[in-house]
Amino acid sequence: MDGQAVVSQKGAQRWARGHPWIYRSDVTQSPDAPAGVVTVHDTRGKPLGVALWSPKSEISLRLLDRDANASIDESWWRERIQLSVERRQSIDATAYRLVYGEADGLPSLICDRYGDWIVVQLMSAGLEACRPQVVNALRSVAKPTGILARNDVSLRAKEGLAQTVELLLGDVPREIEVLEAGIRYAAAPWDGQKTGAFLDQRENRVRIGALARGRALDCFSYHGSFALHLARRAEHVVAVDSSAAALERARGNAARNGLRNVEWIEADAFEYLKSAERKRVQFDTVVLDPPAFAKNKGALAAAIRGYKEINLRAMRLLAPGGLLFTASCSFHLTKPLFLEMLASAAADSGHRLILREVLGQPGDHPEILTIPETGYIKGAIVERR
Ligand code: SAH
Repeated sequence: MDGQAVVSQKGAQRWARGHPWIYRSDVTQSPDAPAGVVTVHDTRGKPLGVALWSPKSEISLRLLDRDANASIDESWWRERIQLSVERRQSIDATAYRLVYGEADGLPSLICDRYGDWIVVQLMSAGLEACRPQVVNALRSVAKPTGILARNDVSLRAKEGLAQTVELLLGDVPREIEVLEAGIRYAAAPWDGQKTGAFLDQRENRVRIGALARGRALDCFSYHGSFALHLARRAEHVVAVDSSAAALERARGNAARNGLRNVEWIEADAFEYLKSAERKRVQFDTVVLDPPAFAKNKGALAAAIRGYKEINLRAMRLLAPGGLLFTASCSFHLTKPLFLEMLASAAADSGHRLILREVLGQPGDHPEILTIPETGYIKGAIVERR
């Protein structure tokens, strides 16, 4: 460990209050070292801990260990990863998030398990410098057949890192079959969205799947993960997505489960909802799981209009007694704003709607109260009386 950083009281306070990041503006003396592991002191010389150092990032320091003498070697990574693995032992799926970065005390590291394989994302320059130890630790703790790095994320640009997809260990197939609470689907680790599937809605899919009935609609269906859970109980499911590639995999996924009651439609969900409303079609179960409409704070007002539009239309399509599962994965749309948007849509819908359940992230994507950035999914189940 060569480098040492000195941080202001404000920076030290963030760590004391349970948040692992210290911003560049709170670093009073930068480490004279390349990206990697450094020790951190306050301005009075008091040691605060060990952190990942990212020279080019706005987020300069990410807390690894509050013991300034801790040596961050392979066994340190092994211990932390082992803890993450133990926290996830009761999950009823073969694919889930094994390490959720800051929420697991492993800042900027994402590891998703897909059966025998692991897909990782190294999201900071400091972490990238520890890559060999991280990969070795993962290998000995989780014993995967292969490890793929889906480092093709734009966030890496802010760290001065290249966006690449790289095989780090063994081999990883193009498609991996996942079993999720009795439903089979193929994930696409090399070129699918995120690390190959949307693992963050797993519990919500199971929840609305258990309540589904009658005529069902899944908007923004991707490779059909919600639609397949709905199709087990609903008579008929319409699944809408704008991506032909996602729908092609979705059709294969339906076949894997022997489900013949799903109709896959390649369309803009906004247009589909509008035309269904015009035709006065009704549904007993509706799912809305759109992409993040607000990628940044500036886009929030327009995003809220978008969310309200789809939710209002979905509410109008509900048959009496019908259920709507609705979600937003925009970090900037906070929980209060999400519920306010739903209330506003309900007010315009002309229906009386009950807020049955307020939902969030599954147990493998824990939302840490002192780290707001770990929470981004809001969900709700709404029922038309
Ligand atoms: N519900 C899915 C994840 C949905 S991600 C799951 O649980 O796996 C969002 C999806 O919305 C992506 O598949 C994307 O192709 C699709 N999408 C984005 N904009 C769209 C639009 N305007 N109309 C329909 N689909 C859209």
